[in-house]
Formats: sequence, structure tokens, C-alpha cells
Amino acid sequence: MPDIVVVGAGIMGLAAAYELVSVGCSVTVFDTYARAAMASGWTLGGVRQSGRDAAELPLARAAVALWSDLGERLDASIGYRQDGNLRVARTVEEMEIIRRLVDSQRASGLDLRLLDTGQVRDIAPAVSDAVLGASFCPTDGYADPLATCQAYLSAARRQGADYRPGTTVERIECRDGRVQGVWANGTFVPASHVIVAAGLQGNALLAPLNLAVPINPHMVSVLRGMPGRQILSQVIGVANADCAGRQEPDGRFRVTSGVLPWHGVLSGGTRPVVPTPASSFGRIVERFTTVVPSFADALIEECWSGLIDLTPDALPVIDAPPEIDGLVIAMGFSGHGFCLGPVVGQVLRDLVIGNGRQWTLDPFRHGRFEGTTGDAGASLTLHG
Ligand SMILES: Cc1cc2nc3c(=O)[nH]c(=O)nc-3n(C[C@H](O)[C@H](O)[C@H](O)COP(=O)(O)OP(=O)(O)OC[C@H]3O[C@@H](n4cnc5c(N)ncnc54)[C@H](O)[C@@H]3O)c2cc1C
Repeated sequence: MPDIVVVGAGIMGLAAAYELVSVGCSVTVFDTYARAAMASGWTLGGVRQSGRDAAELPLARAAVALWSDLGERLDASIGYRQDGNLRVARTVEEMEIIRRLVDSQRASGLDLRLLDTGQVRDIAPAVSDAVLGASFCPTDGYADPLATCQAYLSAARRQGADYRPGTTVERIECRDGRVQGVWANGTFVPASHVIVAAGLQGNALLAPLNLAVPINPHMVSVLRGMPGRQILSQVIGVANADCAGRQEPDGRFRVTSGVLPWHGVLSGGTRPVVPTPASSFGRIVERFTTVVPSFADALIEECWSGLIDLTPDALPVIDAPPEIDGLVIAMGFSGHGFCLGPVVGQVLRDLVIGNGRQWTLDPFRHGRFEGTTGDAGASLTLHG
């Protein structure tokens, strides 16, 4: 069985590592920091099919099928709840967006319902009576991001995966169009396959191979409350994605801004930190309290900001590009990859062991961006 290097201990790299050791491969996972240090720790943790691009919906549905018994498979508690996703409309224009969304996603076979104000408040009394309606997907939900990444990591290690936190992969070594291994902290590590699941920083490895993915980084800020009374079981989004939020099982609110321009600062140390602009606090509180007024009473314990690896079409690259044998890429999840982690892990496994054809990956091919040099221009539908 092949020797595989996985670059990145986010949900994509860890899910791939787990799936690969489960079929007998030898796997080494490298991360500059540690598991879930970047997007997979910064995330809201929404597990949703609703609001997805049609190209991504089949993967999201396959992922949700896997989430239901993922905790059992990994033998760990991952905090997965399937209590639904409400995407609310605050204006007549937003209601029209929601109506169109429901029509198109129902046509794709998703159980997405159109609710009026009364129906929204019947299932989520904490939502303001000022909202005009919402889409509701009962099979959406959320999971605990850190617990999920840790569960994948522990399960992979139990089956023999080698985990090397605090270790940056500096370069992928190739000869005659084939992967030979990687250089990590100055040491050569031979490998038949390298999976680049390095999120926003993947291009540092791909650019020298002339395979950079066009990515335009954006920022999202997050407020997290103290434990409190549970008043909301669904994940809440809004039609124009300018905020989103949920409560964790212990009642903590976890609420995000919409997508913001990134100020360009990412400091290192033991964990990467994206400083939060002061303006984000007011923005999150003002927007989310129009949807869930009692959020104004939440006691905030933490805030952070995270970065989003936005591609030109807001779809990821999940591919084994033909230019280099043994190279597999999974990045550019554009702010909605957490849900997809379990299924992407299986796709990456199959790309490595030669079973990739069973998946429809055309929308996610690396080559679709050939000749794209400018900024990513896609609008982002974020976790709501
Ligand atoms: C605020 C926020 C809210 C979000 N909400 C949702 C949501 O509700 N639902 C949803 O589905 N998605 C959501 N997302 C998106 C989702 O979190 C990401 O798409 C997903 O976590 C990406 O996982 P990843 O493994 O590709 O990347 P990451 O988690 O970023 O992992 C990449 C890892 O690679 C490591 N690395 C990079 N370069 C190297 C190198 N050279 N050597 C070694 N290690 C390296 C990094 O340290 C990092 O740990 C959100 C994102 C943010 C920021």
C-alpha cells in the first residue's frame, strides 16, 4: 500500500488520513501548528446542504449521510446535532431570494421548506417576529469542530497514522512528473502520494509546481458566548449571508459576521491569529439581534476572526491533477467546507488508491481555472 503524506491537519487532511489508514495505507500528517489550527477551528461548524451550489449539493448530501454515524465510527463524541437550518428573510427582497432558493433546491431533490413567520416561530420561538419567513432544511445541523477534528486524529492515530504537529512542509519534491516526497523542517520524507489539504496556505506548495489555485482570502469574525439557557436548536442564517449563528449544546452562542475584506494580518506563534477589527463586534451584534433579539443578553467570552479561501466560483478544488502523478489537492472550500469533510476524506482516499472515478468531480477539477489570473469574483454563500 502507498506511503502518503498529508499536508494540513484541518478537517480535510484528518478525514483523508483516517480513511487511508482504514484501508491499510501508511500515512504521515504534517501541520505547521496543530489540528484544527485554522479554518477547521475558526468555523461555525454548520453541517448544511441548503444554500449550496447545485454542483456541490450531491457531495453535501453524501456528507450528511456520513455525519449521522460519524461519532460511532470514530468512537468519540463529536457534538453532531441534526436540528435543521433556518435561513431567514428580513425584507421583501430577501423573501424573494428565499423563495427562489426553495424552488431550485426542491427541484434538486432536497427537502427544503418555505415557512412563514408563524411557522418559523413555532419551531424557533427565539427568532424575531419581524422576520418575514425562512427556508427550513430539517436534515441540516451542526457539529463541534474541535471535537470532530480531534476524533478523526485520534482514530487515525489508533490505526497507525503518524502525526507531526509543529512541522511545516516546505516543498514537494517531484521528478519526471511524479511525486517523490516532501521536505519538512529541512528533512526529506519520501512518499508515493502527497495530499495538499493546507487550506489558505496550499499555494506556497503548489505555486512552485505551476499549479497554484486562484484564491482571494476573505475574513469572517466570530463571537462566542458563555454557557447559558438553550433557546435555539437550529443553525440560523440570513438570505444575504451577512450574519449567521447557533447555540452550542451548553447554550453558548457562536455567531459570525458576514464576509469581510481581510486586513492582511495573520500572526504566527503557537497558533495563527487573525486580529479582529473593533467594528466587527457591533456589526455582528446589530445584525444577529435583528433575527434573535435575546442574543443581546449573551455574555461574550471569546472572539476571533478566521480566513476563507475563496476561489473564483466559490467551489473547491478536489482533484489529482494530471500534471503530476501522486499529487492530490483539496483546498479552496470557500467558507463552506466543514460539512463536506467526511465525504471529502473518502474522495481523497479514492483518488489515492485509484478509485476516484466513482465520484463526479468535474466541477472541482483544478484545470477549470486555467488562464484565470485575476481576483476571485464569486459571491459567497456562507454557512447560513
Ligand atoms: C468563521 C468561519 C465560519 C465557517 N463556517 C462554516 C460552516 O458553518 N459550515 C461549513 O461547512 N464551513 C464553514 N466554514 C468553512 C470551513 O471551516 C472550511 O472550509 C474548512 O474547515 C476547511 O478545512 P481545510 O482542512 O481545507 O483547511 P484548514 O482547516 O484551514 O486546514 C489547513 C491546515 O493546513 C496547515 N498548513 C498549511 N500549510 C502547511 C504546510 N506547508 N505545512 C504543514 N501544515 C500546513 C494549516 O496550519 C492548517 O491547520 C467556515 C469558515 C470560517 C473561517
